[in-house]
Amino acid sequence: MDLFYRSTRSNGEKVTASQAILQGLAQDGGLFVPESVPVLDKSLEELAQMSYRETAYEVMKLFLTDFTEEELKDCIRKAYDSKFDTEEIAPLVSVDGAYYLELFHGATIAFKDMALSILPHLLTTSAKKNNVRNDIVILTATSGDTGKAALAGFADVKGTKIIVFYPKNGVSPIQEKQMVTQKGDNTFVVGITGNFDDAQTGVKQLFGDKELEKEMDAAGYQFSSANSINIGRLVPQVVYYVYAYAKLLKRGEITQGQKINAVVPTGNFGNILAAYFAKNMGIPIAKLICASNENKVLYDFFETGVYDRNREFVLTSSPSMDILISSNLERLIYLTAGRDADKNAAFMKALSDAGRYEITADMRAAMTDFYGNYASEQETADTIKAVYEKTGYVMDTHTAVAATVFNKYKAATGDNAKMVVVSTASPFKFTRSVMNAIDAKYDAMGDFELVDELSALAKVAVPNAINEIRTAPVLHDTVCDKEEMKAVVKKFLGI
Ligand SMILES: *Cc1c(COP(=O)(O)O)cnc(C)c1O
Repeated sequence: MDLFYRSTRSNGEKVTASQAILQGLAQDGGLFVPESVPVLDKSLEELAQMSYRETAYEVMKLFLTDFTEEELKDCIRKAYDSKFDTEEIAPLVSVDGAYYLELFHGATIAFKDMALSILPHLLTTSAKKNNVRNDIVILTATSGDTGKAALAGFADVKGTKIIVFYPKNGVSPIQEKQMVTQKGDNTFVVGITGNFDDAQTGVKQLFGDKELEKEMDAAGYQFSSANSINIGRLVPQVVYYVYAYAKLLKRGEITQGQKINAVVPTGNFGNILAAYFAKNMGIPIAKLICASNENKVLYDFFETGVYDRNREFVLTSSPSMDILISSNLERLIYLTAGRDADKNAAFMKALSDAGRYEITADMRAAMTDFYGNYASEQETADTIKAVYEKTGYVMDTHTAVAATVFNKYKAATGDNAKMVVVSTASPFKFTRSVMNAIDAKYDAMGDFELVDELSALAKVAVPNAINEIRTAPVLHDTVCDKEEMKAVVKKFLGI
C-alpha cells in the first residue's frame, strides 16, 4: 500500500514520497508528514541479525513506498559504503553506564553525514521517477557544518551540481579549509563578503527568481535544496534508532521488548523527531530526552508549553545546536494537534509574527514521551573532563550536552532504564573546546598540534577527514559580494 505525504499547514494535495523529496518544502510553506507512521514488518529478533544496510532497507521501504526494492537498495549501497570508516556505520559503545551511539564515522565526522550521504541518491532517483530531465542544482547557504556534509554527499553524484555559499569571515578556519578543499567536478564553493544571513537571503532570492528559473530550464537545470526539513533527510535518521535497539538485543544487553531511553543533543529537532518516529514504528523507547545547550528554547517549551524565541542568542561550544527556531518541531506540533493543519498554521503564524506561541493542555498531554533539560557551558566542559578521567573516553561538546542531561535526568527521576546517548560529532571536529575542557594548558597550542594531542590522549587515530585537510590543496577561491551571487551561479552553470 502506498504511503502519501501531506503538508503540516493545509489540507491540500497529497504527494508521493519521491515528490516530497523533490519539493523539500510544501508549496504553502509547511513540512511534509507521512499520512501515518508505518509499523515495522520484521520482528526485533529478525532485525537483530541485520547489518546497517539491511536495517536501512527495512525501515526506509516503509516510508518511501514508491521506490522499487532495486532503487532503494541501490541508494543505500551507494551511501553507506567506504565513506564510513567502520563497517558498522553507527557503532554503539558502552561507556560509564550508558551506550554511546556514534553517528560520526562518515565523511565529515558528524551526524549530518548519516542523512546527507544518501539524500543525493534519493533525490536523483526521485527525479528519474517523476520524469524530471533536468540536472539538479543544490543551492545552500551554510554557517559551517551542513555545507561540508552536503558537498561531501553530492560530490561526483551524476545528474547533480552543488553550490555552497558561506560567510567569508564567519566560519572557523578548519571549517573553511574543509570546504575550499572539496573535490568533485560538480562542486562549487563561494565565500561571500557578508554574514550568514546575507548568504541565506541571497540563496532564498535565487530560489524565487523566475527569470533565472527559465534560463536554467532552457539549459537543462533546476534548483533543489538539501536542508534539514526534507523528508529525505528525516527518514534515513530513523534507521539508526532501530539499529541501536537491535544491536542491544543481539548483544544480550536487553531482552526482547525491554524499554530503553534515548537522549539526543538537539538543535533543529530533526534527530530527536526521527527517534519519535522509530518509537511509533514499534521500537520500545520509553523516554525521548531532548538535550539543549544554553539556547534552551526547547527545555522551556517542554516545561511550560510556551515556545518563545524572543531571547538572546548565545554562542556556545556546541555551535550546531545554537538555534532559536527548531524547524522540525513543527511536525510534532502538527501531529500532537491531531494532524490539524489549520491549528498548526496558526501556531506557526504566531511564531513568525510575535516570536511565540502556546500549545494547548491536550497537546502537552500528548508529549509526555518527551523530557527536556539543558546543559550550561561549564557543565558541558565538566562532563567531558569527568568522563575522560573516569574512563578514557573523549566525547565532543554536543555529545557532552546530552551526557550532562542524561545525568540530570537520572538524578531527577531515578529512572534506571538503559540509555542510548546519541553522539553527534567526533571530538576531532571540536578539538579546541574539547581539549580546553580537559586542561586549560592546551589553549596555547595550534589547531593541528591539538589534533595530535587529542589522538594521543584518547588513543584514537586521527580521522581521515582531518588528515586530508592538513595538506589538501585549495580548489575553490571564489569570493563575491551578495549582489553578485546570481552572476556567479550563472557563470558556474555556463548560462
Ligand atoms: C545538526 C547537529 C545537531 C542537532 O541536530 P538536530 O537534528 O538539528 O536537532 C547536534 N549535533 C551536531 C554535531 C550537529 O551537527
